[in-house]
This record gives sequence, structure tokens and C-alpha cells, in this order.
Amino acid sequence: MKYYDVIIVGGGIAGCGLAYNLAKECPDKSVLLIEKDEIGANAAYGYRNTFKEIVKEYNLPYVKMYKGIKIGAENKILAEINCPMYFFDYRKACKHLLDVSSAYVKKECAVHQGSHILTTDTSKYYFDKLVDCSGINFFTKNSANQKRPKYYWKGIVTKTKKPKISNDYYYFYFGDQGHLEEIYPFSNHILYGRWKYVRQKEVNILTNENYYVVQDVSFDDTKICQIPCSPAFPICEKDIICLGDSFGNANCSSASGIGSILDSSNLLANCIKTNSNFEKMWKKKYLNFYLSQLASRKSRYMRNPLLSSFVDYPKNRDILPIFNKYPEVFIDLLKGNFKKPPMEIARKYPMLFKFNTLLNYFLFKMNPSGV
Ligand SMILES: Cc1cc2nc3c(=O)[nH]c(=O)nc-3n(C[C@H](O)[C@H](O)[C@H](O)COP(=O)(O)OP(=O)(O)OC[C@H]3O[C@@H](n4cnc5c(N)ncnc54)[C@H](O)[C@@H]3O)c2cc1C
Repeated sequence: MKYYDVIIVGGGIAGCGLAYNLAKECPDKSVLLIEKDEIGANAAYGYRNTFKEIVKEYNLPYVKMYKGIKIGAENKILAEINCPMYFFDYRKACKHLLDVSSAYVKKECAVHQGSHILTTDTSKYYFDKLVDCSGINFFTKNSANQKRPKYYWKGIVTKTKKPKISNDYYYFYFGDQGHLEEIYPFSNHILYGRWKYVRQKEVNILTNENYYVVQDVSFDDTKICQIPCSPAFPICEKDIICLGDSFGNANCSSASGIGSILDSSNLLANCIKTNSNFEKMWKKKYLNFYLSQLASRKSRYMRNPLLSSFVDYPKNRDILPIFNKYPEVFIDLLKGNFKKPPMEIARKYPMLFKFNTLLNYFLFKMNPSGV
């Protein structure tokens, strides 16, 4: 039976990003990546968007750069933000990261792990550390009957003919059923996505039943997707570690999932190098950030038009002029970074944000397994 220092299950952005970062941080470790399908298989039409920093840092091969974002509601554009957004091909990006790593790759399906042995559909391997990057398959959480993430972006993505809109911008609409719509124009087609932020119990995540109502979209050419966005602790148990969507990805903003996964893959590579506790380091670095994002979601109950804008449009129509006036607030919201609101907003809502963050922090402390 062959031995590897690190075995990675899953060849999405988490698995490939970790292989890349391990080659950079600890090139002496032997690494095996197991993928049951193709590298970057969970691509749903292939494209992902993200911000410049990540594209630059990882030299991701992008297919298109949009000049900015047009934000609207009720079919009207109400704000325009010039901030470059990069679109890249998910499969190519994953392959690119893996190519520059030194990991061995096997096309096998991981079926069981125990006593430092991973069993796949065709082989058995010894490992020192196993990293579960199996995304919403939740390989280790399912087999250990552990809690899965509570919050998800659930959506449909469809590819249709191109309407008459500019190719230069990415479109972001606030829908009237508490949902978001995105349009990614390409030269001959558009990708249209409709997303809703929900708790796991609101729908059965493993079937398409009870999906929220989608109007005017043909289901024939549509993919149904879910992105976990709340951490499901434990992230690590002894030498088994979850990374990426398999632990909840923990980012409830659009366009920054890939970024946060690559960041945490770098943190994990460093923890493996220095033999430090990944869960502890992850909490130190990301927990407050995640809680502040969660606070912005939960604050709808507090009737704060700014922080609740993602979920409570059209009740909170005041929000769009604020975005127009302060485009950077919108970008920060997308990145999930809402630490320094402009003075005008901070004066209007001085305590709310802090209070919610604190509240969530205590809720987390009382119930650490499911934020
Ligand atoms: C439609 C859609 C659009 C999105 N848009 C964006 C966006 O624009 N920007 C952004 O930043 N984020 C976006 N996200 C979120 C982001 O894409 C995901 O958070 C991210 O891709 C998750 O990466 P991952 O590596 O954890 O999981 P995945 O990419 O799902 O990879 C998991 C891999 O594990 C493999 N696997 C599973 N079980 C096993 C097993 N037992 N044995 C072997 N292999 C196994 C699977 O085949 C798969 O390849 C989007 C997500 C979706 C679904």
C-alpha cells in the first residue's frame, strides 16, 4: 500500500489550490490528489467571477474582464460601478493550479477513510493527513454523520441567447422575491443566474424538489446549484481536514467564494508546514469576517436598509441610491468586507452592525457546531 504525506479528495478549486500551495510552502511533502470525475468537474457552465487580487496572485487564466457592474432592480439600471471583474474558466483555472503543483493525480472515487487509510473504488492508500475537498458531496462529514453547513446560496444558472445589452458590464439585479439575479454577457450568449440565500432546512438540498419559484426560465437548459456558506465545525478532526465547500466555504458574498477558498488553502498549507492547528488558525483569521457577513444577513430583522439590502429588496428601496453614491460600499459588500462604512452611513446606523456581530459571536460560542 502506497504512503503519501497528504491525500486530497476532490480536484475543484480547493483541492487544486491546496496542491498548488503545498508545492510552494512545503515541496518536500508527497501529495496525492484523488478526483472521481474531471479536474474542476463541478463547473456548471464553466465560468466564475472574481476580483483582480486573486487573478493576479494565482496567475489565473481569465477569459474576460468586465469594466464594472451595473446594479439594478425592476429591470432598471440604478447604479453603475467601475470596478474590474474577471471571468475565468473554472476547469482551466483548476488545471492551471494543479499543473504547477507537484501532486500525483488519480482518477478514482474515495469511498471510505479510517485509521490513516483511504479506500477508493480501486485502491487503498496510507496517509498522514487527509484533506476533504469534496465540495457538496461532504465525503467525510457524511460518513462521520457530522453536521453540514446551515446556510446556502441556492440558484439556477441558465445559458440563453444574448439580449441587447452591453458586453462590457456584468449585471446584478435585486429581485422582488428576496432573490438576486446576475447576467454575464459574452459575445453570443449570456449566462443568467438567479440565487436565493436560504437555510438548509428550507429546501432539501439533495433534490430539486421544493426549489424556490423561478419564472420565465426554461428548466431544460438550466443547472441547479448550491454554494454552502456557513462553516460546519469541526473543520478538522485529528488528521482529517475539510477545505472549501466541504466545510462550508464560509463566505456569503457573491464573487468571493473562489478568493476565500484559495486564501484558506494557503493558510492550510502553512499549517501543514508548521504542524499548527488549522481550525484554530482559521477561526483566528476568518471567524469575525464571516460573522460580520452573517450579521449583515441577519440584520434584516432589525430593519437596517443598508445591511439588509441583499435579502430585503424591494422593502428597502433606499439602498440603491446609497450604492450609487458610495460604489465602494457595494464592492465591499460583495467581498463580504463591511468593516468601514462611510461616515454618513456609520452615523446613521452607529451601533447596529457591532451589535449584530457581537450577538452572532455569542450564538456561535454557545453552539459552535452550527453557526
Ligand atoms: C453555478 C455556480 C456559480 C458560482 N459562481 C461563483 C463565482 O462567480 N465566484 C466565486 O468566487 N464563487 C462562485 N461559486 C462558488 C464556488 O464556485 C465554489 O465555492 C467553489 O467552486 C467550491 O470549490 P471546491 O473545490 O470546494 O468544490 P468543487 O469545485 O465542488 O470540487 C469538489 C470536487 O470533489 C470531487 N469529489 C467529490 N466527492 C468525491 C469523492 N468521493 N472522491 C473523489 N472526488 C470527489 C468532485 O467531483 C469535484 O470535482 C459558484 C458556485 C456555483 C455552483
